[in-house]
Amino acid sequence: MNVYDSERLKDTLASRGWSPTEDVEVADLIVLNTCSVREKATEKVFSHLGKFKKLKDKKPSLKLAVIGCVAKELGTVVQKRAKYVEYVFGPQSWHLLLNALENQPSLCDVGNYKLDKFNHLALTKQNHMSGFISIQEGCDNMCTYCIVPHTRGREISRAFDEIMQEVAQVVKNGAIEIVFLGQNVNNYKDDDGKTLADLIRATAKISEVQRIRYLTSYPTYLTDDLIDLFRIEPKLMPFLNLPIQAGSNAVLKKMNRHYSREQYLEIIKKLKTARSDIAISSDFIVGFCGETEEDFEDSLDIIRQVKFVHSYSFKYSQRPHTAALKMMEDDVSPEDKTERLNKIQALLKSIQKEYNESFIGKQMEVLIEENPREGFFRGRSPYMHPVEIKTDKKNLIGQTLPIAIYDASPFLLYGEIK
Ligand code: SF4
Repeated sequence: MNVYDSERLKDTLASRGWSPTEDVEVADLIVLNTCSVREKATEKVFSHLGKFKKLKDKKPSLKLAVIGCVAKELGTVVQKRAKYVEYVFGPQSWHLLLNALENQPSLCDVGNYKLDKFNHLALTKQNHMSGFISIQEGCDNMCTYCIVPHTRGREISRAFDEIMQEVAQVVKNGAIEIVFLGQNVNNYKDDDGKTLADLIRATAKISEVQRIRYLTSYPTYLTDDLIDLFRIEPKLMPFLNLPIQAGSNAVLKKMNRHYSREQYLEIIKKLKTARSDIAISSDFIVGFCGETEEDFEDSLDIIRQVKFVHSYSFKYSQRPHTAALKMMEDDVSPEDKTERLNKIQALLKSIQKEYNESFIGKQMEVLIEENPREGFFRGRSPYMHPVEIKTDKKNLIGQTLPIAIYDASPFLLYGEIK
């Protein structure tokens, strides 16, 4: 979502006469879009700002802005710690930067303006083959470890028609894959009751669109209607990120996740019934407050059962404004957290390797995305694998081609054009 926000800000700044540069030394404005989901982010922001200060010492007209979740979390503290920063805006207020640049020498406003920012943004110029579109922001779930409900606010959905206009725009710019984004994207519901399933059906009718994806989903919001789309809509790719976070019911309860491991497994069963080849990815937190060795074993067990094809895993760290910080003890030792993280990552990697190797000798449709070096292209399989293709051919970007897979690593498939 931060990538999406940055792209939209870039488009809107461009419509007001700014142009992007790859060379930070010549920049007139630097906007640092920040994420606070993990503990180290805040210190990283100040470390970057320290480097930008040196640029500003050489070029006093350079303006600095900090936007996003760290800005929201810290508010005026940003300018107290880094007096040379002109602008501070949160995830719902960064559109205020546009007028502030023209009219105000300095401003900090991290207020919650809900979806107001979308009314101030220029039509996107993004001409990637994948069009990322934010359809829903914020979250009401209040997982006890998570700062997002504080930084991105209560859950709110954009209007269906406005989203479809943006879909039409990115398709006009050349997108052939549409990726819908939201903190709980599968809970999207606009004021007229339109759902994510309605968005997918409408998008699938656009002939130029070849692929549709969405992320990130919350398990209990996966309706039968959405599950059935994996069966009947060929443009909906057979890949789903469905974070479980932990495999133990006791830990899930402490995390305030609103499902049990049994309910999660039931949802996976329905998904696999709808589309037997669907690939599922997840996120895991290890060492959450009170997590015992037995609880951790439950996470390993669920990984073995579901065979997640790709997952992110993190050590629990306390975040400000969360219930876990206020009411629970961070009682798993750093050594145990590290050991559990190593174990879970080793298991995830071995399953991913086995899964990827199962494609050797098979053929798959790959959407070609880039040409990283002479004689090679990179693309994505329907299951989200990055695929490297060796070929002498030119100008393949944007094409979907049948690729024969001849080798695989845990993180990459290797293929050639069939
Ligand atoms: S569902 Fe939980 S983890 Fe996800 S954004 Fe909401 S509070 Fe955070």
